[in-house]
Amino acid sequence: MKYGIIMGMSQKTVIERVDVQGAHIYLGMADDGSPMYSNDGNRVMQWLCDAWRFRFNANRSNRYIINKNKEKKPLSEHPDTRTVKTMRVECPWIAAVPTYVIQSPDRIENTQWFAAIARRKTNITHHRKAGRMPSFLSRKHDDHTFACWYNNGQNALFQQVNRNHGIVTIKGQNPKDYRDHGTRFTIRIHIRVSQPIRPYTGIRVNWTKRTLVFTNTPLPIKREQTGMAVGVDVGVAHAAAQSNGMFLDLPKTKLAKIDREIRRRQRAMARKANLSGKTRRQYVRDGVSQRYARERAKVADLYAKKHRIITDCYQKYTTGLVRDFEIVCVEALQTANMTRKATPKPDPNTPGHYLSNGQSRKRGLNRSMRNNALGMLRSMLEYKTKLEDTCTLVQVNPAYTSQTCFQCKHIDPRNRESQAAFQCVNCGHEDNADTNAALNILEAGLQHLASTDGAWHGISVQDMLNTLRGQHATLPCEPQHA
Ligand SMILES: [Zn+2]
Repeated sequence: MKYGIIMGMSQKTVIERVDVQGAHIYLGMADDGSPMYSNDGNRVMQWLCDAWRFRFNANRSNRYIINKNKEKKPLSEHPDTRTVKTMRVECPWIAAVPTYVIQSPDRIENTQWFAAIARRKTNITHHRKAGRMPSFLSRKHDDHTFACWYNNGQNALFQQVNRNHGIVTIKGQNPKDYRDHGTRFTIRIHIRVSQPIRPYTGIRVNWTKRTLVFTNTPLPIKREQTGMAVGVDVGVAHAAAQSNGMFLDLPKTKLAKIDREIRRRQRAMARKANLSGKTRRQYVRDGVSQRYARERAKVADLYAKKHRIITDCYQKYTTGLVRDFEIVCVEALQTANMTRKATPKPDPNTPGHYLSNGQSRKRGLNRSMRNNALGMLRSMLEYKTKLEDTCTLVQVNPAYTSQTCFQCKHIDPRNRESQAAFQCVNCGHEDNADTNAALNILEAGLQHLASTDGAWHGISVQDMLNTLRGQHATLPCEPQHA
């Protein structure tokens, strides 16, 4: 899923045909210098895709990449910094492209760039191939696509025709000097729909695959200054815990059901491989049976489904965080710690064998799940706070945040006897373990901000710190329940 990160709640439909009503559209200059006009649906769609990619690549040409020697290098030697307005004058082939189409690459390029970088980081921490650096869109290798903002009904309007069919209209007009074949035009994209279309913020057309997606990009987030800060701890018992005592939980029953089905189908696959009398690897290499291939595709579907459910939860959650808080503090991911494994202990009695070194599988699994969740949370918060300049993300050193008592700052692994409960061996302070960690993260984040710049959008960070301490000094030391 290439655009998965920004399109949490989208609806996909199939394009049946496209026609143009009103004026013939001015598509630019032909090689011989004469203006080209068309009202052919296919040609117009191709033209929109080409124009969109052109603007997308112009935006991308301003990016910098870090090369192998850790040097910052511009992605392009000739970055294109032109605005849409100048571009329309200088490039005749985009002169007639509707504004809500030609403006959309500006934001999409940004989110896609950061999403790609975050994905590469995740891959590297998981020892997978990092994948390509995000680069330019290619006419030859990439699907031909474009987007159009709905912008409260300004364009890309959907109209249901009957139970299974609808039309999306994109309106535009020809530039002043090219109105010989009319001024205003309407591009009508006929689509097949199977469900009612929910409110949407834009559409995205993939002309190569003939699909149209109604997107529900949760951005930009409408927010007002709240003057509030929050610390977030990612846990195993709860998906996330906030310093104010609130929790995020994933739909566990739903996910467990999917897991059970995945395991069932995997067993079926193993059985089929076994029956062939070959090893699994050989069986896969020599070509699998149709039944096996079907199970394999279904398993991939189920994993994707699980991923969609989890991302959707986190999308909604992080949007809420950015909307409600000015400062969001999370743990920084410590790659060095994470990848370090306990050193193998050779068994002195049997050479070539190893003794248990205390690295239990369960613990490793929990940790990798936690790191996945933290990575997802952080990458979403990173790009959402980047798009919202009144909200900032602070990443703090996670060392001892779960073992430190928020009340007296005593650090002791025994403080956390169980996964869920925290009880300080020094002062007796009791709290939910995740909430206690979130409070420590918040305090560390605020202290970091106070040391760099004392005020955040007119709010004194020191005041916030004092309030945080004050509130909790007066709180009775009782366990808090969600
Ligand atoms: Zn204490």
